[in-house]
Amino acid sequence: MTAPSSPQTRFTVPDFATLKGLVSQATVDDVQAALRREHLRIEDLAALLSPAAETMLPLLAAESRRITTLRFGRTTQIYAPLYLSNLCTNRCAYCGFSADNRIARRKLSLEEAEAEAEILRKRGFQHILLVSGEAPAALGVDYLEAIALRLRDRFAALSIEVQPLNTEEYARLFAAGITAVAVYQETYDRRVYDKVHLSGRKCDYDYRLETPARAAAAGMREVGIGALLGLADWRCEGLALGLHLAWLRKHFWKTNFTVSFPRLRPAAGSFEPLVHVTEAHLSQLIFALRIFDPDVGLILSTREEERYRDGMLGLGPTRYSAGSCTAPGGYSQDEEKGDHHDGEQFSVGDHRSIGEVCAAIRRKGFDPVCKDWDREFQHLEDQEPVPVPAE
Ligand code: SF4
Repeated sequence: MTAPSSPQTRFTVPDFATLKGLVSQATVDDVQAALRREHLRIEDLAALLSPAAETMLPLLAAESRRITTLRFGRTTQIYAPLYLSNLCTNRCAYCGFSADNRIARRKLSLEEAEAEAEILRKRGFQHILLVSGEAPAALGVDYLEAIALRLRDRFAALSIEVQPLNTEEYARLFAAGITAVAVYQETYDRRVYDKVHLSGRKCDYDYRLETPARAAAAGMREVGIGALLGLADWRCEGLALGLHLAWLRKHFWKTNFTVSFPRLRPAAGSFEPLVHVTEAHLSQLIFALRIFDPDVGLILSTREEERYRDGMLGLGPTRYSAGSCTAPGGYSQDEEKGDHHDGEQFSVGDHRSIGEVCAAIRRKGFDPVCKDWDREFQHLEDQEPVPVPAE
């Protein structure tokens, strides 16, 4: 495996003007050629993301559905986020947790985090994503490690979406039971990135960009990347995502990768999306990435409405969140006093319970999968292969 931080192996994003040139010059013929090709080049992804491909969305959907069924069968994985804290030292213009916003701040104690996780476990979740704002002094590796050690025997998979860490820290969390890391670049457009990240450690574009490689180098089983849709040209974000994914695959072939497509949602503060991304755009982006990379896990979260999520079942996405609350302690609040949550990161679009989401998946002829991995597999992977006896 190649060290991620040596200069010759560092991933760099082309200028967005260059990416825009690639997508805007693609023709209908280029799209048709991309749909016929077995191993797609980056020019093919540009064609699938282009305005020319917009008129061919049903063809893209059919190809994306074919590949998804071939690779993943008729299954959809289910997970839930568990918000540990909304403390954050960064100021990101688009986020409800931004240090600027006057919201009630809290950090769950280990016991509170355990209680939230237990509610999710009883609801049937086997895979949870631990999420927090970025406040390393309060939410450091000691805290995350302690939570992982408490939860790892009760869940099949524990993922984190927290502040970027260094390789040694990821390795420590992996040893404690965290097997996956999600870290979204938010926007690959450096100019826009500088504009919306107002202060704090997150202003360091390059450190964030190199985070998926550090997590993979630390041995994480799965690494998730993504862009927050609504900040910059979505076609160029899609192309940058494809380039990033291809680079990560080349350097970390043992790691599974996922891509998420969060669209900007209302939150505390008064940020308006800088770019309008419609459901048709989102669909084109999902189909294009599926066709480009048949093996990548594609995640569609509860930011999207149930009508759209149900319509996309089987067409490309392979993992859905369900029954989500984006405020720390929100699941316990549900149980105690109904549906009101203080201090949400953003509002969700699909309010159904896990049972309702699973029922909708079954109605479409798919199997909801709450567990596709067990920590025991990790131990098996670590062992020497069993020698095959001679005939
Ligand atoms: S996006 Fe993340 S880092 Fe930025 S304010 Fe929100 S929680 Fe903090």
